Formats: sequence, C-alpha cells, structure tokens
Amino acid sequence: MTRSEYYARMRALARPVRTAHGLASCKVTRSDLRRIYKVHGIKIDIWRHKFKDLRGAYFRDEFGTTVMVADLPTDPMVFTLAHELKHHLADQDAPLAPCGARNQSEQVEIGAEIFAAELLFPEDDFCRVMAEIAVAHGACRPEHIIRVKRSTGTTLSYQGLVKRAEFLGFAPSGSLPRSGWRVLEEEIFGIPFYKRRRRAQSAPPDEADEAAETPERQDDLPLFAAAVR
Ligand SMILES: [Zn+2]
Repeated sequence: MTRSEYYARMRALARPVRTAHGLASCKVTRSDLRRIYKVHGIKIDIWRHKFKDLRGAYFRDEFGTTVMVADLPTDPMVFTLAHELKHHLADQDAPLAPCGARNQSEQVEIGAEIFAAELLFPEDDFCRVMAEIAVAHGACRPEHIIRVKRSTGTTLSYQGLVKRAEFLGFAPSGSLPRSGWRVLEEEIFGIPFYKRRRRAQSAPPDEADEAAETPERQDDLPLFAAAVR
C-alpha cells in the first residue's frame, strides 16, 4: 500500500465511526469522544503535568486500554483524543504509541492526524461550507477560515482548517497564517464578552468604565458576512 492509499484508508475509517456514534455535525465535543471511548472500553488518563514533546499516548496491556493525554484546551484535547482513537482502531499490533513532536512525520502518526481531522470535520462537509460562502478554489482568505470556524463551531483548530483549505486547493499552499488566529478573530469580530468583562474587572476604575462601554461590534457582522461572499 502506498502512503497516499494508506492516508485515504485512514480518512475513510473515520466515516463509519461518525455514523456509528451519531456524529452528525462538525462540532465534535469532549463528551462525544468520552462516549466513544466508553463504548470501546478505553480509559482516559489526563496528565496534570506537561511532558516535553508529548501530547498523548495510546497504551494497551493485559489490564486494559488507556489513552494518556496532556491537560489541553478543548480543541487540541478533542483532536488528540480522536488521534489516539485511530491507534486503537487501526494499530492493534502496536500496544504502545507515544504521540508528539518527535514522531509526528511518521506515516502512522500522519494517518492518525488525517483520521482525527476527518472525524471532527469531514472533507465533504468542509467543501459544502466553503461552497455556501462562495469560496472558489484558490480564493480562500483568512477571514473565510474565521467565518467557517465561527459559523460551524467546529472543534477542528484553526491550524487544522488551514491545512484542510490548502490541501484541498481553496488557498495556495503556505498562503494562510500559521498562528495569530485568535488575535485576527478579535480584530474582525471584536473581543468576546467574557474577555472584555475580565479585562474591565482587572483595569483601574476609569479604564474599566471605558472597557465596559466598548460596543460588541455586532454591527460589523452583517458587513463582514457580505464582504466575504
Ligand atoms: Zn499518535
């Protein structure tokens, strides 16, 4: 089997898993993954401390199956749990799979990334969303990626959406930013209410008043929506 055939097989593997577990949208949550893990009898062990270059690991022995995962924010946590699920479903000959920066370019690891991305947000659904906002091939800009993220509520990260958009040819390879997405999102859509409230509470009285009165910039939304169409 060639690499590309293997990757296509890993992507295809995600589809029946979505169907079997009723994942109908691209907003796959921690609860969804916990539910799937329970069905497969996989225990989750969350590390409270960080391991250098390691974000998760799959481990199976005579006592059962465990996925160890760093205490990550929601998006990377969901993605990592999906990644480790691939090791459970497709790598039964390997009882231990450490996953991190050191082995991320290995075929088995890339296959797990492809499986996870498809489990969270199937390529077909991504193409449909891009068609809905009229993004032609090669025409995807950062604001389109932000719009997809916000309108779908997907837990696939900005980095994952960028890879997907470039891989499918919606944007030229390397044309989209690799970081700074939250800042860009705030520049376009304004600062989320919970952040403004937190900043206002920690600011001196005058600044707090000013921060509290800052408009949400909701008025920008229709304009932005029209601009990206
Ligand atoms: Zn892995």
